[in-house]
Amino acid sequence: MTSSDVVILGGGPGGYAAAIRSAQLGLSVVLIDEAEIGGTCLHRGCIPTKALLHAAEIADAARTAAQFGVNATFDGVDPEKLYGFKNTVVSRLHKGLSGLIAALGITVVNGRGRLTGPTTVEVDGTTITGRSIVLATGSAPKVPGAIEMSDRVLTSDQALELNRIPESAIILGGGVIGVEFASLWASFGTKVTVVEALPRLVPNEDVAISTYLERLLRRRRITAKTGARVTAVKSDDEAVQVTLESGDVLNADVLLVAVGRAPRTVGLGLEEIGVTVDGGLVVTDDELRTSVPSVYAIGDIVGGLQLAHRAFQHGIFVAERIAGRDAELVADAGIPRVTYCHPEIASIGLTEEAAREQYGDGVETVTYDLAGNGRSQILKASGAVKLVVDPAGAVVGVHMIGAGVSELIGEAQLLYNLGVKAAEAARFVHAHPTQNEALGEALMAVSGAPLHLHG
Ligand code: NAD
Repeated sequence: MTSSDVVILGGGPGGYAAAIRSAQLGLSVVLIDEAEIGGTCLHRGCIPTKALLHAAEIADAARTAAQFGVNATFDGVDPEKLYGFKNTVVSRLHKGLSGLIAALGITVVNGRGRLTGPTTVEVDGTTITGRSIVLATGSAPKVPGAIEMSDRVLTSDQALELNRIPESAIILGGGVIGVEFASLWASFGTKVTVVEALPRLVPNEDVAISTYLERLLRRRRITAKTGARVTAVKSDDEAVQVTLESGDVLNADVLLVAVGRAPRTVGLGLEEIGVTVDGGLVVTDDELRTSVPSVYAIGDIVGGLQLAHRAFQHGIFVAERIAGRDAELVADAGIPRVTYCHPEIASIGLTEEAAREQYGDGVETVTYDLAGNGRSQILKASGAVKLVVDPAGAVVGVHMIGAGVSELIGEAQLLYNLGVKAAEAARFVHAHPTQNEALGEALMAVSGAPLHLHG
């Protein structure tokens, strides 16, 4: 029997952040994972996808080089090198993370853990005891019951290991994963059709962002079928066939199922020891404590945004609380959201619709088109920055689309989380020429003093 201050189940961004901070604060830690430390984010999510998306950007740069007076041609993709590049990035980061965990004296146990009591976890017949237990088991792709997986019907897990560029792809789900894969495959020459059940792509974003995205993806010859329902999926050695309720029949090389991710909470012994689970999600109080006081839950198994950086903050927060420190959590609305498709989407706070529901008619908005921003013109980046301001003048929503806008979310998150008034922020100087000036222009415009804004 091993005993420690903190036992953490799951070594993804939530679990390993909790482990690192606990160890830094002098606590003894056991970190249990059945796979490699780093979780979905490092091995099957954020990092490998963004590595492929960076390569996609290079393909686009080569393809469009002539527009900038540079002679270059896009001659195709070498899948072995492409996937090799992605794997190298992942393995370097994994090595670095493993080194950090070892240096901090964290005990890593490889195996599948199961709670057997409020302070005990069993792994392969061995009981591990912890004064506190942190559940951080993450999520896995959802697959509708009617869809049978095959070599051609993939989730993002398999798509990241495909090791070839599909000739054509149907993507089920026009949320974050759906549009990121649509974007990267289209850059590599795949003919992409996205099928989204709701009336617009990225339905969690402000309506204006979906409208821009649909237009900009159309320009990239990505087809989006919104408000579309699938009635049948068939696949064989040759192709996959998807039938829509409208009667349309789509054929492609592969189908990517990207309809959300489900929390991984089955078979952990949660209900048996009294941890309340609702619809697969672990129920917690505001301090991420479950119905069993010694057990905390963090990350994707807790209802809300499923984002690696939310899991990081959860992990740090519970470690500090377990160590007896004061700590505060940023609520989900204050967590930056970035979709790394081309063009990128970055947002924080409330959509216009949500702000109007909360604050009524006194809500002001302004949309600054990147066409007026010098740096964006140089980069040939189309898009916009939209600000939502409450009746008191505070910035309650920032919604951006365009190549490079992910880098603007840092300022946006300060505006939102510190409750800064737009007029106050508008007096600050934004370096010229940067895309950041678009945010500055939007702040000036919404405060009634636009500079480079027509009409
Ligand atoms: P999502 O919830 O973002 O999108 C799923 C989409 O599928 C929704 O738009 C939904 O309306 C649609 N859908 C559901 N059932 C459908 C059906 N039967 N037919 C057609 N459409 C259907 O989920 P996701 O894209 O799978 O991503 C999962 C989670 O991972 C999300 O919470 C996402 O935020 C997170 N994630 C984040 C990033 C990032 O931060 N860049 C990247 C990847 C994933």
